[in-house]
Amino acid sequence: MADWRQQAACRGLDTAIFFPESRKRSDQEAAQRVCRSCPVRRNCLSNALRDGEKRGIWGGTTENDRRQMASVGQGSETFLGDPRSPVSPSA
Ligand code: SF4
Repeated sequence: MADWRQQAACRGLDTAIFFPESRKRSDQEAAQRVCRSCPVRRNCLSNALRDGEKRGIWGGTTENDRRQMASVGQGSETFLGDPRSPVSPSA
């Protein structure tokens, strides 16, 4: 895939929803709903983990999710499941 960002479900949306002011679940859910239907969620999450993104919702994960993944050495494949299966809406 030349540039996975071209297929991002969030393309053209207000990026503010992906950087909610609070860490309240209700504030994060709007972004996570978009991510659940995103065809490039794996690419997005892998990128965020590789780059150590501290803020925002990436690949449907919160800052807390990514921190926990890093603490146990979990990568996007483990978090999102088998790449040949549909992405589970776990986040
Ligand atoms: S997973 Fe979410 S943040 Fe990442 S590209 Fe898709 S819609 Fe955007």
